[in-house]
Amino acid sequence: MGPLNLKDMANRTVQHQVPENVKLKHADCPDIVRLELTNTCNLACPHCRHHSKEKRKPENYSPYYKTPIDMTEDQVAAIFDEVAPYKPSVTLNVANEPLIAHTFPFAVRKVKECGLSGTFNTNGVTLDRKIAQLLVDVEYDSVNISIDAVTPETLKLARGITRLDHLIKNVEMLLEIRGEKKTPRVGVTFVETDYNYHEIVWNGERMNKLRDLHNSGRWDEIPFCQPCDYWVETFDMKEEERDGFLIRNPSPYTTFYNVKSRLDNWNKDLHDRQGTGKTRDHSDI
Ligand code: SF4
Repeated sequence: MGPLNLKDMANRTVQHQVPENVKLKHADCPDIVRLELTNTCNLACPHCRHHSKEKRKPENYSPYYKTPIDMTEDQVAAIFDEVAPYKPSVTLNVANEPLIAHTFPFAVRKVKECGLSGTFNTNGVTLDRKIAQLLVDVEYDSVNISIDAVTPETLKLARGITRLDHLIKNVEMLLEIRGEKKTPRVGVTFVETDYNYHEIVWNGERMNKLRDLHNSGRWDEIPFCQPCDYWVETFDMKEEERDGFLIRNPSPYTTFYNVKSRLDNWNKDLHDRQGTGKTRDHSDI
């Protein structure tokens, strides 16, 4: 595979997806660039749409995944040469495990050498001291570790493994190496599903109230949000109507393109990341 031309890829994608009667002006470079450094993963999570045991059966596994491929340093460097002038936010994975990619350390350094902000999601299994030290040394911006369980039994359902202690040790090690430094921001994600809902740290009702407060911008009423300035810009969500879309920017990191003719299909009782959904009275929290 030769050097990738990101602009051509973006143009092809836009032309393919947008109906003929809609004219979208796209930027020269996407605001967010996500690099898939490898096409494989060291787990086989039962829910994974790419690498679950079921999906890995020869008759189900996509040809794309059958041969593990890593991007080369030259390819990674070529992409950064192209996109760095536009200052996109960079995510070092899409749907695979970035920490097992050979070029992961190189890509981490590249993000910061180019003066960009970076994040990635990981299952945390191979997060070790060397990687943690690198992330702290280069002042990498953000790391999200997906765990989705607080007991080994539920981790088995979520991730197909039971070593919750190993994951916790790795997260604590990263926090210890970061110490009082500001970065990386460390997030541990817990996606609610049927099998882990009972393990949400608070009972479901309290969690829902906190979420609604968060989504309606009442962060000062949530104790652990008070020192956080990550979302401060969301006080002033920008809206624009253009080309058949209601475009909302609730933060510098997120843009929602809502098809105007489809806005009626919002269920206002559902969790609304755009911050405009129905809220309840939480004066009793
Ligand atoms: S860690 Fe992520 S990519 Fe890997 S199998 Fe699990 S869900 Fe899929």
